[in-house]
Amino acid sequence: MFDSHIHSSISSDSTLAAADAIREMKDKKIGGVFTEHYDFGYPESGTFLFDPEVYFLNYDSLRSSQCLLGIELGMVPGYDGEASKLVHNFPFDYVIGSIHVVENIDIYYPEFYADRTKLETYGAYFDAMEACILEFSDFDALGHIDYIARYAPYADPEVWSEPELHPYIDRVLRALIKTERVLELNTRRIESEADLNSIRPIYARYAELGGRSVTIGSDAHSRDRIGWKLKEASTFIDSLGLEMVMFHNRKMIRL
Ligand SMILES: [Zn+2]
Ligand SMILES: [Zn+2]
Repeated sequence: MFDSHIHSSISSDSTLAAADAIREMKDKKIGGVFTEHYDFGYPESGTFLFDPEVYFLNYDSLRSSQCLLGIELGMVPGYDGEASKLVHNFPFDYVIGSIHVVENIDIYYPEFYADRTKLETYGAYFDAMEACILEFSDFDALGHIDYIARYAPYADPEVWSEPELHPYIDRVLRALIKTERVLELNTRRIESEADLNSIRPIYARYAELGGRSVTIGSDAHSRDRIGWKLKEASTFIDSLGLEMVMFHNRKMIRL
């Protein structure tokens, strides 16, 4: 078992000490990769960035086959040049590409949703996602495709429950498959079987369109969330005929 999405204190929004994270991985008998936040074009400049020199200097001694060093790129259009340079210049094991900011607003904030329908906000979110998948040339997996559902204020925030969004999601999945990236299953929103069932159609559609591989990550920002629902997620992936993978030294490995 391998947790492909963990934030230690290198990330602006985490206080998890790397040594504690590693202890937790050992206790749970799993491997994991630190995927620290690096958000390009974040509205409040200087936030969600880190110094990669310091990261590799301080974490090099922690590195092993069970503890890898990665990054979660926050993507907004126009930053492929900078992102590719960063990824090329440092020896990351794994690179997640994620959408956190749409129309220059962190979609964590309620103002993004004010006086707008789910179709409008989710449509803009998936359009940005598709554009960034096609623009950004150097990442391995798309992070949390259902990220918006964590924060959207609608009665039903699930991304698949609005049929008019299906063509948007299809375009995102097709862009991923065409550019040979993989889809992440982020377990942060998973509490029960019902939660897995609500995201099932996305992963089933990915398989139907020709997608094959999935990384599984907890998006842990604290020790207790490391490895969260990994086993359940892996059974779920199996049941859809998809394969669970991880990345080491930017190479995909089947688990
Ligand atoms: Zn993220
Ligand atoms: Zn994350």
